[in-house]
Amino acid sequence: MSQPFDEVYCDRCEYRRGSFVLWGRLSYMLPSGKQLHLNRRLGWCHTCKEIVAMEDIATEALLQVSIDDCTVRLEAISRLKNGRLFKRLLSYDRTEIIDLEENLSDLCERLALLRQRSSLERCLSCGSTEVVPISLPAVDREPVQLDFSHPGCGGNFWAANNPTWLNMRFEEKYYNVEGEHIGREQTLEA
Ligand SMILES: [Zn+2]
Ligand SMILES: [Zn+2]
Repeated sequence: MSQPFDEVYCDRCEYRRGSFVLWGRLSYMLPSGKQLHLNRRLGWCHTCKEIVAMEDIATEALLQVSIDDCTVRLEAISRLKNGRLFKRLLSYDRTEIIDLEENLSDLCERLALLRQRSSLERCLSCGSTEVVPISLPAVDREPVQLDFSHPGCGGNFWAANNPTWLNMRFEEKYYNVEGEHIGREQTLEA
C-alpha cells in the first residue's frame, strides 16, 4: 500500500527536506473576512533555493466543471424533493444536501478568488513566484525517483519514507487573495 512520503533527498549531495513543508493549517483570508483552505503542493523555489510548499490553484475550467457537477446533483435532489418518496429519504439526503451546498460555496469562492487575482502561484515560504511544481508519485517502501533534478547540483531528487521526520511543528498561517503571507495577527482579529 502506498503511503505519503516523508522526505525528498538528493542522490548527489546532502540535501534533504521533510514532507512537513506541506503541513500546517494554511488559509486565504478573503476581503469578506471569510477563510478559505489553501491548497498546496510541493515545489522548488528559486528564491529560497529549497523544496517548499507552493500554492496549488485550480484552473477556471476545472473549477467550472466541479461547480456544474455540484449544481446538477443539487437540482436532482431538489426534483426528488417534490416527489412522494422525499419524506422517507429526508434524513439521508439532508447530509448530502449540506455537503453539496458547502462544496458549491467553496468552489464559487475559489472561482471568485481566481478571477480577482493577478499573481502567479507563489512559494508559501517567501512569497516568490519563481517557483516550479514538483510532481510526486506515490511512495511505497522503496524510494521513488522524481522527475526533477536538484537545481545547481544536478543530482536527482528521490522521495522516500523515513519516520525520523515526524513530530515537526504544526503551523497556522494566513495569506491574502494574491497568495501573500499576512501572518496570524490578522487571523486572531478576524
Ligand atoms: Zn544535490
Ligand atoms: Zn521561496
